Amino acid sequence: MSILVLGGAGYIGSHAVYQLMDQGKDVVVVDNLETGHRESIHPEAVFYQGDIRNKEFLRTVFEKESIAAVIHFAANSLVGESMDKPLQYFDNNVYGTQVLLQVMVEHHVKCIVFSSSAATYGEPESVPITENLPTNPTSAYGETKLTMEKLMKWTAQAHDVRFVSLRYFNVAGARETAEIGEDHRPESHLVPIILQTALGQRPHITIFGEDYDTPDGTCIRDYVHVEDLISAHILALDYLLENGKSDIFNLGSSQGFSVKEMIAAARTVTGKEIPVTIGDRRAGDPSILIASSEKAKQVLGWKPERTSIDQIIQDAWRWHVAHPSGYGKVVKK
Ligand code: UDP
Repeated sequence: MSILVLGGAGYIGSHAVYQLMDQGKDVVVVDNLETGHRESIHPEAVFYQGDIRNKEFLRTVFEKESIAAVIHFAANSLVGESMDKPLQYFDNNVYGTQVLLQVMVEHHVKCIVFSSSAATYGEPESVPITENLPTNPTSAYGETKLTMEKLMKWTAQAHDVRFVSLRYFNVAGARETAEIGEDHRPESHLVPIILQTALGQRPHITIFGEDYDTPDGTCIRDYVHVEDLISAHILALDYLLENGKSDIFNLGSSQGFSVKEMIAAARTVTGKEIPVTIGDRRAGDPSILIASSEKAKQVLGWKPERTSIDQIIQDAWRWHVAHPSGYGKVVKK
């Protein structure tokens, strides 16, 4: 029996595929390669290129393969872009998940682990954020993730399907061996932008606002290493396969770092200057997002091991140095 990884050519999905294969699992990858990279797909995984909104395509995969469970990463994930293209986000994220659940029900596949987001909370009432806080997304992206969770909830009530939804905070880092890593085009995330600046590919990094109500005036976020994040997915898979009930968990490191602290840590790790300019606030950015991940630790037995910000940046830096142009152009030492 195989684990089906939807979006297995993306940043987070590719790390899931590698970790599953490390554990000797059979993995089938589906990806439309719109934002994912063919080079990031594990060479021994079975790969189908196609779109999850295409029901006939998805049925073919479920008919050809023997699927034990699904991990679903296939979605658009940029907050800013979602504000300009809400219909694209609802179509790809929500309709895609609807088709997926229909095909899972048809083929009696019962377990799904799903990548959700801290964006489902919006501006939190209090930190650290626990799973029972109200969900008031401030972006179309966050609304699609919340709607995807609701699709799962109602499907699980009506059919023999169980789900675990994992609400990610800020994911960063890369596999230690650096064969896969983060490569978004265009890049909008803080850690890769800092490291591209350290490599001299950008003249400076712009800090989006230094007038927030935080100790140094810049936004505070909770950064979690992609490898720790994936270990929670594999625990969630085991939990569901052992008849665990449907549930929602936050995944973060429970520690907050400001933008300026991240840049200072990157200067230490890389030994580079990393020039900075101060810009305006970015629309929709809450000032502080810090997770409580106690529930994932207690129920799933999650034990994040790479919680030092230096290690997260170090692993990301190794990837950027080995692949300064991302996928497609590998620089060998
Ligand atoms: N950020 C920044 N400059 C950049 C990119 C990001 O100051 O070029 C800030 C952003 O405002 C936020 C934090 O870094 O406070 C993390 O942003 P990112 O886009 O990585 O993740 P998000 O928090 O939006 O999920």
